[in-house]
Amino acid sequence: MFNLILFGPPGSGKGTQSERLIEKYGLIHLSTGNLLREEIQNQTTLGLAAKRYMDQGQLVPDEVVIGMIRSALDSNPKAKGFLFDGFPRTVAQADALDTLLKEKNTEIAAVLALTVSEKELIERLLNRGKTSGRTDDTNESIIQARIAEYENKTAAVARYYETFGKVIRVHGEGSIDDIFDLLCKEIDLKKVA
Ligand code: ADP
Repeated sequence: MFNLILFGPPGSGKGTQSERLIEKYGLIHLSTGNLLREEIQNQTTLGLAAKRYMDQGQLVPDEVVIGMIRSALDSNPKAKGFLFDGFPRTVAQADALDTLLKEKNTEIAAVLALTVSEKELIERLLNRGKTSGRTDDTNESIIQARIAEYENKTAAVARYYETFGKVIRVHGEGSIDDIFDLLCKEIDLKKVA
């Protein structure tokens, strides 16, 4: 299996690039944001509990998202590999993911970290809010809260994977095509390695 993490702050382009990467490399897309929004749409108990955190720009508790990822991994036993998007977002989630993958005799090949300036992130998210229907994208103070969660809890995930030499930083500003090409170049180097 070939597993990747697409990492970066909210608005860094993970969702956009994920769509293209899964297509090109035949990976299964696991976006905890999308999975949580599906739960909300279906008005499940999990979704209703998660919504309270999401609407405030806070992270959903670790055990909730870890459980979702565990069942997604179990329900795709024939996958060639997974692309994790928006997960792991805490060091506890990263630890849990390593354990889950080890049980399946596999691991993370690389963490592709998109770098984008804070000013650009806020602009992109407010813009997305005009059309996405996502309530967490329409209010600047909620966007600030999400960026703060990223800095306080999620940035440490990159440092965690750095100790294993797995992080590759990719400049996330420019055209979608150019960023995609940069990502593919890095992935192809990993695939032959
Ligand atoms: P973005 O990257 O634009 O913030 P996501 O769709 O990845 O968007 O996430 C939206 C919200 O869902 C987050 O602000 C958070 O509340 C929740 N969420 C998503 N993934 C996780 C996760 N791995 N751990 C905790 N909360 C999460």
